[in-house]
Amino acid sequence: MPAPLRLYDNYTRSLRPFEPIAPGGAVGLYTCGPTVYDYQHIGNYRTFLFEDVLKRVLEWNGCTVQHVMNITDVGHLTSDADTGEDKMEAGSRRTGRSAWEIAQLFTDAFLADLQLLHIRAPTILCRATDHIREQIEFVADIEKNGFAYVTADGVYFDTSKQKDYGYLARLDIAGQEAGKRVDVGDKRHPTDFALWKFSAPGEHRQMEWDSPWGRGYPGWHIECSAMAQKYLGDFFDIHCGGEDHIPVHHTNEIAQTEARVGTRLANYWMHGYFLLQNDAKMAKSAGGFLRVQSLLDHGYDPLAYRYLCLTAHYRTQMSFSWDSLDAATTALERMRQGVFALPSDPGAPPDAAYIERFTNEINDDLNVPRALAVAWEVLRGDLPSARRRATLVAFDAVLGLGLADWQPRQESVPHDVQELAEARARARAAKQWAEADRLRGELAVAGWEMEDRPDGFHLKRR
Ligand code: AMP
Ligand code: ZN
Repeated sequence: MPAPLRLYDNYTRSLRPFEPIAPGGAVGLYTCGPTVYDYQHIGNYRTFLFEDVLKRVLEWNGCTVQHVMNITDVGHLTSDADTGEDKMEAGSRRTGRSAWEIAQLFTDAFLADLQLLHIRAPTILCRATDHIREQIEFVADIEKNGFAYVTADGVYFDTSKQKDYGYLARLDIAGQEAGKRVDVGDKRHPTDFALWKFSAPGEHRQMEWDSPWGRGYPGWHIECSAMAQKYLGDFFDIHCGGEDHIPVHHTNEIAQTEARVGTRLANYWMHGYFLLQNDAKMAKSAGGFLRVQSLLDHGYDPLAYRYLCLTAHYRTQMSFSWDSLDAATTALERMRQGVFALPSDPGAPPDAAYIERFTNEINDDLNVPRALAVAWEVLRGDLPSARRRATLVAFDAVLGLGLADWQPRQESVPHDVQELAEARARARAAKQWAEADRLRGELAVAGWEMEDRPDGFHLKRR
């Protein structure tokens, strides 16, 4: 019997056996999506790749997954402390396009990147700007329940009203209050945060709406509480994001939902750890970040980056280097060639013992690096070759490397070379070995090598 699935839950800071809230029903999964004021970088995609693997592991364990992801297209300010400019308005100024245009442009670019990385799209992808009414209703209930106050520039959440505010991040609220030197503006406490911001007097924002409190736009955290509740209910299974979301964004999502419906939003809180560049978090604001397109421009296959991410556990930070991407490229190429060379036989089932070992690894809080090592063992091992292929193709439901479909790039083969190869194949079939060898020699002189396959032949340059 393979080990049951265990996941690391950051709320309890423990490895917990995964039990769906509705056994037999769909697992509710909410993952914080991109802020679409710019392209996503490969650090963002490390988190999205971890979430994709999580989803695949849940499915491997027989669950169906209802996956909701938001698109942040309003309200995310340049500082997490509710100051600075809306990133969308800043992005609009930078590009000379409207905020609505860049939201669409970068959402489309994001979806195209997901495909290149074999990250499967969520069941529901929802935009913050399409859910303004839900967010206003959410804020109204928080206010009605006594957790909000209004200042000159917005509606704020009063974190002092909540006994265990900050529990997810184990925030030291008393310490923060004592050492309060930060400028909190009109906020009552440093940890209070905006639920709704007013458009500044005289300011004409591209994105603004009327509300019971005044014209303006939602705070960044409210969209996730509102859309998660709308699509997944008051309390659902798993909520994910990058590790930077622990102290502010997720802490505040929990506060809001607790204030409205009394739950901590999700049963498990899981976080992907950073991709580092030059020892610091890869960040859009740092400039010079790498996109999926940058990898293509340098001649890399985006799936080599997926492979690279599979080699590190999601709960450890990973430093990016071109050398490590080169190594991942080589490993992926070997794995693809290895699987391609194995015969496909629909009658050959995957190997049960290896399936169990693989399951034990992925069920141990998604230990994909060790699961990958099991895949290499299968590839290099001595199982019958069709069984090896079937086992590796089964593993690929989690790895997502497209191993079953991969083919060496077909070179355009000159007509006379193709004819020589076909003549040689006919000679072999007729067991005319001397003639077959002669034709192989001619092919070699022409610079080509012929590989015999159970289903024909493959030509490659020597
Ligand atoms: P954003 O577009 O900034 O809202 O971020 C999208 C997702 O990427 C969030 O879950 C972030 O926590 C995550 N993220 C941001 N930077 C990194 C990084 N350097 N490494 C891994 N994940 C990241
Ligand atoms: Zn969120």
